[in-house]
Amino acid sequence: MERSIVGLSQQKPFAYSVKMNVRFLDLSVQDSQMKQELLQAVDKVLSHGQIMLGPEVKEFENKIAEMAKKKYALGVNSGTDALFLALRGLGIGLGDEVITTPLSWISTFNAIAMCGATPVCVDICDNLTIDPDLIEEAITPRTKAILPVHFSSQMCKMDQIMSIAHKHQMYVIEDAAQAFGSYLNGKMAGSFGTVNCYSMNPMKVFSAYGETGAIVTDDEQLYQKLNMLRYAGTIKKEECQIPSLNGKIDTIQAAMLLVSLKYLPDKIRRRRELAKIYSEALKGIVICPNEKNTTKVSYYTYTILAENRDDLKHYLEEKGIETKIQHPILMPDQKAYQHLPKYLIPKAESLKKKILCIPANEKITLDESQYVIDSIKAFYGK
Ligand SMILES: *Cc1c(COP(=O)(O)O)cnc(C)c1O
Repeated sequence: MERSIVGLSQQKPFAYSVKMNVRFLDLSVQDSQMKQELLQAVDKVLSHGQIMLGPEVKEFENKIAEMAKKKYALGVNSGTDALFLALRGLGIGLGDEVITTPLSWISTFNAIAMCGATPVCVDICDNLTIDPDLIEEAITPRTKAILPVHFSSQMCKMDQIMSIAHKHQMYVIEDAAQAFGSYLNGKMAGSFGTVNCYSMNPMKVFSAYGETGAIVTDDEQLYQKLNMLRYAGTIKKEECQIPSLNGKIDTIQAAMLLVSLKYLPDKIRRRRELAKIYSEALKGIVICPNEKNTTKVSYYTYTILAENRDDLKHYLEEKGIETKIQHPILMPDQKAYQHLPKYLIPKAESLKKKILCIPANEKITLDESQYVIDSIKAFYGK
């Protein structure tokens, strides 16, 4: 069909006689083997009937703990819940401040605000994550924690962040929602902090088929508290110790995630291959994610920094290429946060105008990637 006309050998821009449609993300399950395994996993749960906190939940948690090399993992409702419960688990609340980045999905800010604390922004560095050099000057007597976000699967400078936290006796809560499967010096995202959070929502690289998240920690007491917090603040199912909401993970999601996990290494491998192709072809035309030899990135998104971003986005749209701006509004600029002081974040202010995520999921074919590359080159007249 259309796709086969456009070969890798066809190098010239504008040589395409057809317009391709390149989806940013396609959540349908096309691999028939995988689909079969997912259906079997659901079937098994329906048969044993332990729909709530069934055996697959424990199995899923054990796998996550093992991968993050942490003693405990807890499956929860969502990545947002993971952050909210982690903060509450640490006793962070009214009057406390949490230092974080301005550039993330709004859940990061919301989780802090919803437990009564105040998010405090420091600017980002070149890889779009929090700049550790600016953290210390933002610390006040109220600062309880640092909440770094591995934005676009790029690893934060965790060594520096951990040593600042240690020096000032603050907690670190990693928001590793976008970075399951990313590594820094051989350690997985979500294995550095006091308590760390993942999201397995369907858009993430390690994805469920509904809303899901997980928390990992080495702290047993905290783990026990988190167990309560996810279950309406109760122990023994009935005795409420702390006011809390329902944050339990579904057994069906855990069961499907166990299948998802089997396919994850291949998914990440394909995304990394594609990232390499993009980075080589687009070097010098746009700013590509810069992977250092100390990191391995799982590419939740492939985020470029592009001049005339809005025009490029429009041009690609006309070419049938779906892209995404992640995120067009910095968290402190959101209407919900107008009461906060204005933070000095010039780098975030300027880079947010250049950010563009191009299609980089595991279903993208070589032809499609070439079409994306050629279209970007054509836009810049290269
Ligand atoms: C997706 C995401 C979350 C929230 O996860 P949900 O499972 O959607 O609630 C939090 N932080 C970041 C950085 C995310 O990308």
